[in-house]
Amino acid sequence: DQLISQIAAGEVVDRPAAVVKELLENALDAGATQVTIRLEEGGVKRIAITDNGRGIPPDQMPLALARHATSKIASLSDLENVGTLGFRGEALASIASVAQVTLTSRTADADHAWEISGNQDGQVTPSSGALGTTVDVRDLYYNTPARRKFLKSDQTEYGHCAEVVRRIALSRPDVAFSLSHNGKTVDHWNVSEIEKRSAMILGGEFATARLPLDENSGQLRLHGFVGLPTASKARADSQYFYVNGRFVRDKLLAHAVRAAYQDVLHGDRYPCYVLSLELDPALVDVNVHPSKIEVRFRDGRAVHQFIFHAVSRALAQTSA
Ligand code: ADP
Ligand code: MG
Repeated sequence: DQLISQIAAGEVVDRPAAVVKELLENALDAGATQVTIRLEEGGVKRIAITDNGRGIPPDQMPLALARHATSKIASLSDLENVGTLGFRGEALASIASVAQVTLTSRTADADHAWEISGNQDGQVTPSSGALGTTVDVRDLYYNTPARRKFLKSDQTEYGHCAEVVRRIALSRPDVAFSLSHNGKTVDHWNVSEIEKRSAMILGGEFATARLPLDENSGQLRLHGFVGLPTASKARADSQYFYVNGRFVRDKLLAHAVRAAYQDVLHGDRYPCYVLSLELDPALVDVNVHPSKIEVRFRDGRAVHQFIFHAVSRALAQTSA
């Protein structure tokens, strides 16, 4: 079972940033409004994420570290209606098979926290800590040296981790995030409006040179901001697209936006945007693969057209 977990780990958590993503999604699934991310040496030495969510009761802590035991999916048809971010019940088990994990958690009705180290066979012992959960992940891939060899420099791994944090922070302005690396606080975002959050994360220029967008068509809603070319020059890589709350990087979506920029602005500039598409979960499959961020739409053509027209109309405000 340890081996199965390690193989799964290669898919689910192929680098520190993937661990950060899984732990952040769990914190948000637990209803956290405040999340602290502490990284050391690019996340390879340590990833510690603390949230103020509902916590895990002590009797369920071993289960949380067990493979599939906690899957939020009861049947295949549930797959189409996943409301939470995590549902496979394998992230923590996978992480625990390739790193030294300590889980510390306290629920509202407990008078102190509890902790468990290692894997599902570990002892649950009394601990201290506030309401919520800390997942402390040390020495990633200490027992899978082949995997560890694929890692890049600490700075590069850190960059990937920070990008994962930015993506999630942009989608949840209602949650406060704090990010530190090697003991230094790098970013801190308070609960705010999406306008303010995106300005903080993407830079001041994007804050002034952007156009709001909110359009509906049948089952589809697209909302967010598109940046003007001046802003695009500031950061060519500021392209954030969410589908039902999940960050995705998808060719069809990116193409629809780029086509609108070309059509309206006639330049070959990089689009810069924070856009959220919402649609009936039954019309989209966002879970092609745990670590993939692609989506598959029932009707890709309709989605493409809708996005193209919505973004075109938003950009046309400039020339108006
Ligand atoms: P999944 O999220 O797919 O259910 P995970 O392995 O990521 O699987 O997490 C296993 C379970 O552990 C979750 O379903 C949840 O019950 C619990 N859990 C994990 N992290 C947290 C957290 N930060 N706060 C509360 N519960 C958590
Ligand atoms: Mg999860």
